[in-house]
Amino acid sequence: MELDLTQDQKEIQALTRDFATAEIEPHAAQWDRDHHFPRELFGKLAELGLMGACVPEEYGGAGVDFLSYILVLEELSRADAGVGVTVAVHTSAVTLPLLAYGTDEQKSRFVPPLARGEHLGAFALTEPEAGSDAGAIRTKAEPAGDGWTITGAKQWITNGRYSGTFLTFARTDQATAGARGVSAFILDADHVRVTRDEEKLGLNSSVTNDIVIEGAQIGRDRLLHEENRGFRVAMTTLDGGRIGIAAQALGIAQAAYDVARAYALERRAFGHRIGDFQAIQQKLADMSTEIDAARLLVYRAAWLKQQGRPHTEEGAKAKLFASEMARRQTAEAIQVLGGYGYTKEFPVERYYRDAKITEIYEGTSEIQRLVIARSILGLTERTLAVKS
Ligand SMILES: Cc1cc2nc3c(=O)[nH]c(=O)nc-3n(C[C@H](O)[C@H](O)[C@H](O)COP(=O)(O)OP(=O)(O)OC[C@H]3O[C@@H](n4cnc5c(N)ncnc54)[C@H](O)[C@@H]3O)c2cc1C
Repeated sequence: MELDLTQDQKEIQALTRDFATAEIEPHAAQWDRDHHFPRELFGKLAELGLMGACVPEEYGGAGVDFLSYILVLEELSRADAGVGVTVAVHTSAVTLPLLAYGTDEQKSRFVPPLARGEHLGAFALTEPEAGSDAGAIRTKAEPAGDGWTITGAKQWITNGRYSGTFLTFARTDQATAGARGVSAFILDADHVRVTRDEEKLGLNSSVTNDIVIEGAQIGRDRLLHEENRGFRVAMTTLDGGRIGIAAQALGIAQAAYDVARAYALERRAFGHRIGDFQAIQQKLADMSTEIDAARLLVYRAAWLKQQGRPHTEEGAKAKLFASEMARRQTAEAIQVLGGYGYTKEFPVERYYRDAKITEIYEGTSEIQRLVIARSILGLTERTLAVKS
């Protein structure tokens, strides 16, 4: 068993950390206040190869392994969780499924602009009445000529307003309810109209949009994988994607711990540093322990994925634990800082708001528990059409 990162992994981790410390972290509070999406930043990340870190070089990526990409997400999220999710959705939920399921023509046409950061990617599955129950989607793809006409509405689509490529799920078999009649399509920005910017509790430097697709005409070259097999694309995408969200949670929790630890060594009360009080020491010890535990789960899941081994259960465990840990420990960081923790003078209140979403998207904690239960009970068939 080898628990050390490789030299290459350490290098990309350090590169991302240095960039995030210089170019992201100093602006994160302002972006949060202004609800500013830092579009220009993604060009800089692309110059470093970080918009397609784990994409093979022949498709315009940096060609590093999946764990390296997870380290990138952890470091970006440590500086700004909104930046973290923008890159996570762009890569895990769009570029990687195109690589996994695309034909050679689709891969060479759609992947390089994403990997080089010329386009942002969006993953359009959720609808107003289809969240966890993703098999209930109503967006229709009806046969038209040699392709389809797509009509429908999607909700809460990360990157929607700035995206050039939408991995979109629509029902091709109108007679079959549930997951079986769904197909995956590759749409461009001009197939889609953005109708709303969501107001959120946190993650304010990311964009979350409602979109409509109003009779978009597409050819067969836009179908990803087989007709009526799109649900499989969605589910395997989320298997990998949730390792990225777990890394996002880990990065947020690490940031909160770093602030709480430094504060405990500075702040004085009753003639002592608060870090001299056992109550505070125990909070920091728990934080550090839980962050370590989450990190091991996240890196294990990433390692399994990059070995091409099954990782559904391990990815779900990593996301479940890391996200709940991040919510708990960002709250504890506020407690360590006392009143200052509740103010915008310190970033921990932002970390707390940002951490909450990691328990919800790419499958809620309840759904992660379902996935884990199904796996440990040997119910390997995906009998429930839930976002899992
Ligand atoms: C900021 C943000 C960004 C997002 N980005 C994207 C995106 O880019 N693309 C995209 O497609 N979607 C996106 N989503 C949607 C997200 O994936 C869904 O919100 C999530 O899957 C949960 O669906 P829901 O909100 O409809 O909740 P619901 O499915 O309505 O669930 C409500 C509650 O019921 C529970 N529940 C539901 N079913 C079960 C069950 N079978 N057993 C036990 N409990 C259950 C849930 O866990 C939850 O607690 C985003 C959402 C947000 C808030």
